[in-house]
Amino acid sequence: MEPATQQQALIDSDPAFKSVIGQSKHRITDDRTLLQAVMDFANDETDSEPVRDSWRQSLAMDIGLFPPIEQPPSAWRKYEREVRNQIPESKIDKAVTNDQQRAKNVLTEAMQDLAALKTRLQRYAANNDGRLGMVRTPVLIQQDNDLRIEWALEGGASLITILSYAAALLITDEDHVRRDLCRCSLDTCSKFFFAKKSKSGVGKPRTRYCCDEHMKKAHEIDNARRQRVSKEKRRQAALQRQRRGRGK
Ligand SMILES: [Zn+2]
Repeated sequence: MEPATQQQALIDSDPAFKSVIGQSKHRITDDRTLLQAVMDFANDETDSEPVRDSWRQSLAMDIGLFPPIEQPPSAWRKYEREVRNQIPESKIDKAVTNDQQRAKNVLTEAMQDLAALKTRLQRYAANNDGRLGMVRTPVLIQQDNDLRIEWALEGGASLITILSYAAALLITDEDHVRRDLCRCSLDTCSKFFFAKKSKSGVGKPRTRYCCDEHMKKAHEIDNARRQRVSKEKRRQAALQRQRRGRGK
């Protein structure tokens, strides 16, 4: 299928990604934004409704329920009702959570166990005729008097394809994406993010916490813990003194 214009190609590339990793708030235009969208999916920060729809359809096909192609809307409504009756939402929840876990595994391995990530990529490639199956299309963007090229990625129709490409980018550390990959140290968050430059532009980039709020929260928790420890130490010391006093 020949896209009408290159601008169109960028728009056309979106639905494939959406149905696999959900609608990210980051538009996918290059390798870094692709990884950002994978991180958003792992973080459960994408709108996963398109992924749920895609799973619902695929699970329906598994049990022999096929969508009525080119049928009037009334037939579609009947089909959708049938699917919703037969495919429990809990089954879709599980499928999406499972997909998110696979994205998390790729990112975690990139940070902790590169050998495991290389093995995973070989396994993914073996299942896909050794190809990564992604197409990068240059898209000419005209804005006022400026012309620039953005890269549209197409062909991300399966999770394996997207995760293979993400794994390859992380292994080769293209554009320092692996070096910049971080995970929030606040236990209740653990989100993946790219190292952020400090607001002033000077000093080290922020790598431990995904946002200022979580840095503050983690410090508060840490201070409270330290206060508890020192309070406990004072209590123990007072008890010791009491015991010694009685012993006299
Ligand atoms: Zn966080």
